[in-house]
Amino acid sequence: MIPPAGIEPGKNNLFYNESHDAWRQELRKFVSKEIVPFVEEWEEAGEFSRELYKKAGEFGLLGMGYPEKYGGTSEGIDIFHGIVTSEELAQGCGGVAASLLSLNISLPLIMALGTEEQKQKYIPPVIAGDKIACLGVTEPSGGSDVAGIKTKAVRDGNHFVINGSKMFITSGMRADYYVIACRTGGPGTSGISTIVVEKGTPGFTQTPLKKMGWLSSDTAALYFDDVCVPVENLIGGENSGWMGIMSNFSQERLGLAAGMNAYSQICIDEAVTWAKDRKTFGKSLIENQVIKHKLAEMSRKVNSTKAYMELLTWKVMNGEQPIADLALLKVQASKTMEYCAREAIQILGGAGYLKANSGPGKVERIYREVRVNAIGGGSEEIMLDLASRQLGF
Ligand SMILES: Cc1cc2nc3c(=O)[nH]c(=O)nc-3n(C[C@H](O)[C@H](O)[C@H](O)COP(=O)(O)OP(=O)(O)OC[C@H]3O[C@@H](n4cnc5c(N)ncnc54)[C@H](O)[C@@H]3O)c2cc1C
Repeated sequence: MIPPAGIEPGKNNLFYNESHDAWRQELRKFVSKEIVPFVEEWEEAGEFSRELYKKAGEFGLLGMGYPEKYGGTSEGIDIFHGIVTSEELAQGCGGVAASLLSLNISLPLIMALGTEEQKQKYIPPVIAGDKIACLGVTEPSGGSDVAGIKTKAVRDGNHFVINGSKMFITSGMRADYYVIACRTGGPGTSGISTIVVEKGTPGFTQTPLKKMGWLSSDTAALYFDDVCVPVENLIGGENSGWMGIMSNFSQERLGLAAGMNAYSQICIDEAVTWAKDRKTFGKSLIENQVIKHKLAEMSRKVNSTKAYMELLTWKVMNGEQPIADLALLKVQASKTMEYCAREAIQILGGAGYLKANSGPGKVERIYREVRVNAIGGGSEEIMLDLASRQLGF
């Protein structure tokens, strides 16, 4: 197994203590046993074993950071444990990580805004791996303009009647609980509510979507045709969903950045191994200065992204909200991943173009996973725009 981003547990890092190192070691074993051997099969099949949720629940992966009273582990857990989680899951593949952890973009909203009854209902079965949760914000008419969502929920006595559709929803086919952003009021951010829709509610249907990467991830379009849900499914007050949606972004962006940087490091490691082994014109490929410089450039970008990510993680952990920097970090990480995937494939030559089951490594898959990282969770353009506004440009 290739250690992510140059990390040797217990060494060379200011921000990690024994508990992070222990979590890394345990999770690494779990990922090596339960995910790595099946990645090619699952990517080929376009889905991973549902059993993995149960195994991940029992192992404690799904409950990491959630309060003990809901079955999670929160004592002594901080955001660096989440960073470790993203880095270690990257040793498997992006598709599995995205769907397996779709709970982490939906449950935090319930944690932030939900009633105790709602937390008791939705959180324990999901972190145990018995149920699956997802978040539906993006719509066919656009995902970047979150404040412009159109899916409507109209109050009718003790129910909301929902009409509209959602697009690109991770865990969209398999989920049991869908946290859906709906318009319940006027235009803009102050008219949005979040409502849980359960699988099987009449009028609620899903269609799977085929993709360029994250092949084993479950991605779907959702349709709501007069879907009637009880008012008890409203998370937080009516028209106060925006705060919940936004509150999740810091940790989501840090987690995405950690994953992207781990994929970038895999690209470096695979390129180094190949360049040392491959002979061209009578000598090892790595003996050429142009190849050494490619590797040095990749390392420079990965190391600076890692330093930026760890500094911002530390700031968030200490109560700061560095919104502009988090947006810039996400761009830094996706551009680094794009660069490293390109250069790694270039160094591997034709072999880099082959899928892992007929080629030497993972870089072909990582190359196909770059774009979803540069688009999902806030695209590069939208992140730069947000940072510009925050910085007063
Ligand atoms: C595999 C996958 C999984 C996903 N999972 C989820 C999920 O679980 N839940 C969920 O809610 N969403 C999910 N998404 C949606 C994702 O968050 C959106 O794709 C993303 O927010 C961009 O929205 P869009 O695709 O509609 O692009 P658009 O908003 O239509 O934008 C298209 C392009 O135009 C650019 N652009 C838009 N506006 C501007 C502007 N003003 N200035 C300059 N450029 C601009 C964007 O950066 C982008 O490059 C997922 C997407 C994918 C691909």
